[in-house]
Amino acid sequence: MDNNTRPPKKETGAATLAALGEFGLIERIRQRVRANPAVLTGIGDDCSVCTFPAGEVLLTTKDLLLEDIHFRREWIDMYSLGWKSAAVNLSDIAAMGGTALYLHLGLGIPAQTELDDLEAFMHGFLSLCEQENVTLCGGDTCRSVQGLCISVTVQGSIPQAELCERSGATPGEVIYVSGTLGDSALALLQLQEGETPAASIALRHNRPQPRLQLGRALAAQGLASAMIDLSDGIFADLGHILERSACGAELDTRLIPLSAAARSHLRHQPQRRPQLLRGGEDYELLFTASAAQQQHLAQLSAKLALPLTAVGTILPAPEGLRYIDHDGVTHTTKPSAHPDAKADESSLGGFNHFRA
Ligand code: ADP
Ligand code: MG
Repeated sequence: MDNNTRPPKKETGAATLAALGEFGLIERIRQRVRANPAVLTGIGDDCSVCTFPAGEVLLTTKDLLLEDIHFRREWIDMYSLGWKSAAVNLSDIAAMGGTALYLHLGLGIPAQTELDDLEAFMHGFLSLCEQENVTLCGGDTCRSVQGLCISVTVQGSIPQAELCERSGATPGEVIYVSGTLGDSALALLQLQEGETPAASIALRHNRPQPRLQLGRALAAQGLASAMIDLSDGIFADLGHILERSACGAELDTRLIPLSAAARSHLRHQPQRRPQLLRGGEDYELLFTASAAQQQHLAQLSAKLALPLTAVGTILPAPEGLRYIDHDGVTHTTKPSAHPDAKADESSLGGFNHFRA
């Protein structure tokens, strides 16, 4: 952004959106977007116009991020918030096995928002877009009377035969997760308790990496039968697969891969283990695969330098979701997608907006 276009800062404080206006802001965003020949018309017309891979099906996903519901301004910097707004949506394309292509960004912005903050937000958002080779093609911008409101739509594509839906799991298959889990939940827990998370832990919470390469490879090689991204926590998200696939499962929580930082934290605070395991926002992938694919998965894991860890087995539906705890004791539980599931130790469920 060149300094000549920056409105003068008032003596009393930083330049705000009020000084630039809606179209000034949109023009700034437009200038920052990297050109993409697949986007025939991007920001500036009534609709964006984009090309689409012949013979593939369209994937579309949308997520809302609302101030004080999904994020607190004092807990996340604006660069990270921009990054995360794109990441949580791209993660949904990864979870279907697709290729992410285009984004649209809806913003509701309080008029007193500082331009430097919006610049940082767009920098974070567009940095991830460039990393993942996806293009911001349009959006909508409004004033908000209370809090920042971010709505991102991502579109992608996939050959229909390669789709990895939640409904594809069958008994006998192995349940895998990518990467390590729990860091994001640990960061949130520490922030809520007034503690300062270690830098590596805070980064996992603020700047998740959507696993697009992994999702695409699993789908293209036909390795995953069902897949979901871990946004609500492993129990809740596995519950979604079990519900859609009409299956049960056994999850061995001793096998859930935790980062070195999380493990070291738990040595001092072992009582936080259940919260770390059930916490969400890891944005890793959980998928099911036939036991015969073990070798292929090991090769893919080495190629991507990303751990793929078996954490359980798919069972017939009547078995429900049972889990083995830290001490090797087996517990039975309802899948937390079940309407009767309560937010107690036995359900280990994820976040639900309209539940008390
Ligand atoms: P319309 O009146 O047709 O909704 P707008 O004046 O809202 O158009 O937007 C003008 C152009 O800027 C459109 O191409 C729209 O897609 C784009 N746009 C608006 N807000 C954003 C945003 N936050 N990010 C990216 N593009 C945006
Ligand atoms: Mg508009």
